[in-house]
Amino acid sequence: ERLSNDFQFVDVSRADPPKKDIITRTNEFVEIYQPFSERQVANQAHRCLDCGNPYCETGCPVHNYIPNWLKLVTEGNVMEAAELSHQTNSLPEVCGRVCPQDRLCEGACTLGDGFGAVTIGSAEKYITDTAFALGWRPDLSHVQKTGKRVAVIGAGPAGLACADVLVRNGVQPVVFDRYPEIGGLITFGIPEFKLEKSVMQRRRQVFTDMGIEFCLNTEVGKDIAFDALLRDYDAVFMGMGTYNYMKGGFPGEDLPGVYDALPFLIGNVNRNMGWEKNPEEFISVEGKRVVVLGGGDTAMDCNRSSIRQGAKSVTCAYRRDEENMPGSRREVANAKEEGVRFLFNRQPVEIVGGGTGGGVTGVKVVTTELGEADENGRRRPQVVPGSEEIIPADVVLVAFGFRPSPPDWLAEHGIQVAEWGGVLAPAEQRFKYQTSNEKVFAGGDMVRGSDLVVTAIWEGRQAAEGILDYLDV
Ligand code: FAD
Ligand code: SF4
Repeated sequence: ERLSNDFQFVDVSRADPPKKDIITRTNEFVEIYQPFSERQVANQAHRCLDCGNPYCETGCPVHNYIPNWLKLVTEGNVMEAAELSHQTNSLPEVCGRVCPQDRLCEGACTLGDGFGAVTIGSAEKYITDTAFALGWRPDLSHVQKTGKRVAVIGAGPAGLACADVLVRNGVQPVVFDRYPEIGGLITFGIPEFKLEKSVMQRRRQVFTDMGIEFCLNTEVGKDIAFDALLRDYDAVFMGMGTYNYMKGGFPGEDLPGVYDALPFLIGNVNRNMGWEKNPEEFISVEGKRVVVLGGGDTAMDCNRSSIRQGAKSVTCAYRRDEENMPGSRREVANAKEEGVRFLFNRQPVEIVGGGTGGGVTGVKVVTTELGEADENGRRRPQVVPGSEEIIPADVVLVAFGFRPSPPDWLAEHGIQVAEWGGVLAPAEQRFKYQTSNEKVFAGGDMVRGSDLVVTAIWEGRQAAEGILDYLDV
C-alpha cells in the first residue's frame, strides 16, 4: 500500500540505516551502520521522485543509473538492480559505504532542498550485499575471449575497475600488487568502522571467479621488472596511487611521538586482521592524549581509530572552519558523536617537546580567520595576531594528505610526469588515459592526485575502454 504513494517523500522522512550503540562504536573496529531491512530500503528508495532529470546521476562520478535501480529496489527486484548497478560501477558495495554522498549523488538529489535527499549510498550498499548473499554473481558466460592479456599494476580501486571492464570484454587482466590483499587504500587505509575487510575479501573471490588473476605480494620494479610486463603483455595499466606524505614544514615534526597518518592506520589494520609482520609497526595510542592535524577523510579515520584504541583524549585541529573541511560531513558528525574534540581555525606552527623524555608534549597553534578565496574558491586562512596556544599531546598524527610518488623507472620507459608528480594520461585523446608510452595507460590517484574511491573507479573503467580501443578488440 505504501509503495504506491506518490508523495512518499512527504510522508516518509529520509532515514539513514540505524547506527550501532555508542559503546560498540567507541570500542570495536566494526562497521557502525546496521544493514537496511528490505522494508526500510524499499520505503526509502520509494522516496525517489524519478524527477525525470536525475541530477543524482550527474553528481555521481561513475554516472550510476540511480533512479532505475531505486525503482527495482521498491519492486523487490534486487538481482536486476545488482546487474544494473554493475554496468556502471565495479565496486558498488564499497562506494555505498565510503563515498561522501553529501557532496556527490545525494548532494545533487532534487529532494535535498527541503525534504532530505534519498539515501542513495545505503541503497547501493544494500543492493550488492543482498544480491551477493542471495547468490547473485556477474554473468560472463557470453564473453568471447580475445586472447589479449593486460598487466594491471595496483589492486586499488583504479586497477580493479580497469581489470573488471577488461575481463568483461574478453581481455585477460593480471593484477600485480605489493600488498597481500586487494583494495589498495580501501583495505590498507580506510578503517573497518567505515568498511569491514570482509567486503573486499568477498569481492576478491568474485573477481577471481570472473577470471581476473591476482599476483599479490609482488612489487613491480622490485620483485618483477616493468620491462617484463611490457614484454609479456599487450598493454599495461598503472593504478599505483599516491604515497608521499605531505609535511607541515614546521619545527618538531621529527620528534618521537609524531607519526604520519597512513603508517598509523595501516599498523592498526594489520594488527586487527592478524596480518602484522613486525609488531613495532603498530602504533598504540592507548591512554594517550592524541592530537590529529588535518581535516580530510584521513584525519577523521585517525581520530576515530584513536578513540577505538582507547586514547585518553582526541583533539582534531584544522586550519579552516567546519564549513570548509574537505572530508565527508557524515564522518565529521560520526567523529563528534564518538567523542573527538574539534578545534577549528587553528593552524599548527610547531610541535613542541624534546625535553626530559625527548618526546612530543604539545602542538603550538595559532588561530586563523578566513580571508579572500583562493584559486579553487576556498577562502584562505589568515593568522590572528597574538593567538598562540599549546594543545597538550603525547602523540601527534599528521594527516595533511599525500603527494604523488611516481617510481624512478617511469622516465626510463618514456612515461611523462607533470611537474607536481602526477602521471600524464589525459582523458581527452584518441585512446583515453594513455600515457606518453603508447603501451601504458594510467588512472586514479597517481594521475589525478589523491582523491576518492569512486573517481579512481571511473578512471580505471575509462582507461580500460582506452585499452580496448588501443588493442582494437
Ligand atoms: P590506491 O588505492 O592507493 O591503490 C594503489 C595500489 O597500488 C596499492 O594497493 C599499492 O600497494 C599498489 N602499488 C603501488 N606501487 C606498486 C608497485 N610498484 N607494485 C605493485 N603494487 C603497487 N576515498 C573515499 O572515496 N572515501 C573515503 O572515505 C576515503 N577515506 C580515505 C581514508 C584514508 C585514510 C585514505 C588514505 C584515503 C581515503 N580515501 C577515501 C581516498 C581513496 O582511498 C583513494 O582515493 C583511492 O583508494 C585511490 O585509488 P587508486 O586505485 O588510485 O590507488
Ligand atoms: Fe553515490 Fe558514490 Fe554510489 Fe555514485 S558511486 S551513486 S556517488 S554512493
